[in-house]
Amino acid sequence: MSVGWLRACALVMLGLFSVSALAKDKTAIVIGGGVAGLTAAYELQNKGWQVTLLEAKPSLGGRSGMATSEWIGNDKTQPVLNKYVSTFKLSTTPAPEFVRTPGYLINGEYFSAADLATKQPATAEALKRYEKTLDDLARSIDDPQNPASSNTLHALDQINVSNWLDRLNLPATARELVNQQIRTRYDEPSRLSLLYFAQQSRVYLGVSDRDLRASRLVGGSPVLAQAFVKQLKTIKTNSPVSTITQDKDGVTVKAGSADYKADYVVLAVPLRALNKIQMTPALDAQHLAAIKGTNYGWRDQIMLKFKTPVWESKARMSGEIYSNTGLGMLWIEPALKGGANVVINLSGDNARVMQAFGDKQMVDQVLIRLHEFYPQARGSFTGYEIRRYSTDPSMGGAYLAFGPGQISKFWRLWERPVQRVAFAGEHTDTLYPGTLEGALRTGQRAASQVEDLAAGKSFEPTKAVPVVAAAAAGAVAAKKGNFFSNLFGGSDDEKKVEPVKAPEPVVPPAPAPTPAPVVAPAPVEAPKPAVPVKAEPAKKAPAKAPVKKPAAKTEAKKATAKAPAKKAEPVKKPATTPTTETKAQ
Ligand SMILES: Cc1cc2nc3c(=O)[nH]c(=O)nc-3n(C[C@H](O)[C@H](O)[C@H](O)COP(=O)(O)OP(=O)(O)OC[C@H]3O[C@@H](n4cnc5c(N)ncnc54)[C@H](O)[C@@H]3O)c2cc1C
Repeated sequence: MSVGWLRACALVMLGLFSVSALAKDKTAIVIGGGVAGLTAAYELQNKGWQVTLLEAKPSLGGRSGMATSEWIGNDKTQPVLNKYVSTFKLSTTPAPEFVRTPGYLINGEYFSAADLATKQPATAEALKRYEKTLDDLARSIDDPQNPASSNTLHALDQINVSNWLDRLNLPATARELVNQQIRTRYDEPSRLSLLYFAQQSRVYLGVSDRDLRASRLVGGSPVLAQAFVKQLKTIKTNSPVSTITQDKDGVTVKAGSADYKADYVVLAVPLRALNKIQMTPALDAQHLAAIKGTNYGWRDQIMLKFKTPVWESKARMSGEIYSNTGLGMLWIEPALKGGANVVINLSGDNARVMQAFGDKQMVDQVLIRLHEFYPQARGSFTGYEIRRYSTDPSMGGAYLAFGPGQISKFWRLWERPVQRVAFAGEHTDTLYPGTLEGALRTGQRAASQVEDLAAGKSFEPTKAVPVVAAAAAGAVAAKKGNFFSNLFGGSDDEKKVEPVKAPEPVVPPAPAPTPAPVVAPAPVEAPKPAVPVKAEPAKKAPAKAPVKKPAAKTEAKKATAKAPAKKAEPVKKPATTPTTETKAQ
């Protein structure tokens, strides 16, 4: 064999080797070990990437790990979640019929939707009217991926949900129940963009509560996180990321005293947590404004434990139960964790007003109210568990809930990577924010974007929604005449039809009411909870729930997927370029 031939062979071999070495050496860092980050890491690893997952806390699973035992949707409503459930062969248990439709607690008395129709017809009628008006509003959105497609729809983003509800003139009890439902599923109506509410209602239009609360993961949602964790090779817990530095060669991430280097990063932390990470180069003004300004719903969960049920012992009450008094949504879990338990979801401003309270004070406030309905409550009380998502700095709220003006400014902003960083997390999903399904979807999307980036694809910066182009659609809607009359509760007043105007600059968001000032927890006028329960007929409720949010959020058990001690070699390569903080806190 000639020397030239040998050389040629060697060169070919070298070439092959370096190609495969390159392929093997594709590296990514995933920041955040909630289900979005876990999904991104899993998908990238499956595609041959070397992935290091960095999680600030000692445990994985993020918000899903805390809200265990949620009811989950079937594969029609939550296909991505169900795909992983079957990939990991996780066991589920079907939801009993009585948890699949919501119930109501009016001044301490429990009503199924069917009961309400016979025993409180005025309230039932008003709820129906509200649902119909909301459905009509939702139908006015053709494409939930582009909700502000006309001037008229765009205008909805400047209105808050409370103003819209005022126009419906609901009787007091119905309004209180509607308020509770909205604040539990999203946030306080006064803090919520009407367009966002309409868009989410559009997403769940025609979706049955039964499909959304179809089963439960045996062991609760932590088993999903654990299943991902088992698959991942390199996880570093207790690793809060403080800086991300991008340059032409890659990305350097600092977590504690260690530096990690990779080709790409998936950033899967909530916006409040992102606010604490310095990025170099800094994010642009729009991203910074979104980090600072995007509204998150507030929702805290308390599980009160009793020796025996303090409510009607034959009651089979469970599912989402909306009270007309301060406390919001309740969930009775007689069978869970022994004894008899009530999970109370404090949401919206009912949660904000409790911000300054210690855990025990908060529980006391709830017990005081419970005792009003059930005098045995104090005697039977054995303890509590509490999860305060709203005040946890790594979360800063329960989930995304766009406030007035925010869709106009931040719609789909986080769907696009910024240089070598792709974003994931429930807040980056267009259709299913605030859900496991949404978080999982974004993990998949971010993983495939990293692949695209590696393949040389570039992502255009986000463009503002072209309201101008959609003006014609708005004109058509206006000509039909009843758009706003449907919107505001069936009036035929044509004067309310908004003329389609030339595009205007986006109106700055109406300032959301600032969170309730921190008050000393002394003599508290805390929201008046209702808890209690009177007999419950386990009947099917024919009325359709108005807004569909996936699986009711339930349990307050701390759920942590244990991270196996896995290797991840820190790379010693300190950031050299000057850093810029994403936003001053
Ligand atoms: C009370 C409540 C009830 C819910 N109920 C349901 C339900 O019934 N059904 C449903 O589908 N969904 C429900 N959800 C929503 C669902 O839990 C979330 O949408 C989902 O868990 C969000 O996942 P994520 O990965 O986007 O974010 P997270 O779970 O918040 O993950 C982000 C992770 O990033 C970590 N992190 C933050 N900062 C850093 C840093 N600097 N460095 C490294 N790591 C960092 C955090 O510790 C966290 O682990 C509920 C949520 C709440 C709060």
